[in-house]
Amino acid sequence: MMTAAQWAGRARGLADWLRAIHTPGYLAAKGDYLGPFSVLATFIAGLFVLSNVVWDHAIDPGNAGGVVWIRLTEALSVLLLALVMRRNPVGRVTRLGLFLVPAFVQITFIEILRQLDGGASYGIGAFLYFFIFVPFMAQAQSLRFNVVLMGFIALLPNLLVAMGFAQHLDLGIYNAYVWMVYGPIVLILTLIEYLVFQADRERNSLQRDAETDPLTGISNRRHLKRLGNELLEQARRGGKPIGALFIDVDHFKPINDRHGHGLGDQVLRAIATRIEQCTRLEDLTARFGGEEFVVLLPGADHATTLAAAERIRRHIAERPFSDRDSETSAIPITVSIGVACTAPGDGPVTLDGLVQQADQATYTAKRKGRNRVEPHPSLVRPG
Ligand code: GH3
Ligand code: MG
Ligand code: MG
Repeated sequence: MMTAAQWAGRARGLADWLRAIHTPGYLAAKGDYLGPFSVLATFIAGLFVLSNVVWDHAIDPGNAGGVVWIRLTEALSVLLLALVMRRNPVGRVTRLGLFLVPAFVQITFIEILRQLDGGASYGIGAFLYFFIFVPFMAQAQSLRFNVVLMGFIALLPNLLVAMGFAQHLDLGIYNAYVWMVYGPIVLILTLIEYLVFQADRERNSLQRDAETDPLTGISNRRHLKRLGNELLEQARRGGKPIGALFIDVDHFKPINDRHGHGLGDQVLRAIATRIEQCTRLEDLTARFGGEEFVVLLPGADHATTLAAAERIRRHIAERPFSDRDSETSAIPITVSIGVACTAPGDGPVTLDGLVQQADQATYTAKRKGRNRVEPHPSLVRPG
């Protein structure tokens, strides 16, 4: 027996999930996964509508010819929606079209059923089949959107009858059929949502693993490359500068040689932590390789970047590393930092180019005696 608290826990879990499947990030990913399928499903739905020409002829060969043009218009509207969807499967026009086009098909379908002899009884099957296509057409949309859309499409004939438009429709039969299929369709949609959500979570976790440095837990070079290029592009478009630091630990090899690799690893972890303590949330700190780190500072100009570099240098130099588990006395650690920065109005700068400039400046810092910050020559403007 589940207790009240357990039920409450389950309800909270469900509420959390419903929130998670409606976040913009997840919906964009879902649009990417299922957009092409939605387009295909809409195209097939258009062909299905067109194929009803045959059904119409089977029901009433005498009058079917007169309604062919309505069928063609219906099919055209659905195919047009497929084209709109192809441009942007989750855009506003697509979402509007997903309400308007099925409503148009329903209204004209009901009109065809009226014009065909026996249409209201024999044609109702095809009319209900169309309803089943709708959730496939809206597959790339959110679950909430689908549930509301299908509710709207299922209710519409009732509204039309109430407005006096479709008196020939037997609402009792119609509602019995449509609401019976509504439940299973929502179940199928929920199942698909669950599977897509799990797949997306799995993909995100794989990507996180692939872009995390296992030793320090900060970003690795792969993440730096992907996010760094995005940050650079954002800064360029926003007319903002972006700073870059190349941080190389001084005389790290002797630390390894003297105290062992295990302790060397601990030092690298401590350095990563200290760098992050000195940076803002929007900055990106990555382990570039070995004992080298790169920090990108979006929006930071020359002076701000230099100040950040100096903050990091001091924060590390002033706190010698000590290992609680061993007898070793505190080990002094210092870093050399090269600084590069783009200026607003600069032409396109590549991430590789920016990091290379910072790296070059690090060499100069090493040459000048280590434990120091050195700007790239391009930043040292005369005057
Ligand atoms: P410099 O001041 O000129 O930078 O001297 P350095 O000794 O720091 O430079 P060098 O490039 O000669 O040595 C880098 C060392 O970093 C060598 C390598 O063993 C060590 N290293 C690289 N990756 C790791 C790691 O993951 N763990 C540990 N413990 N050491 C690493
Ligand atoms: Mg090095
Ligand atoms: Mg080094």
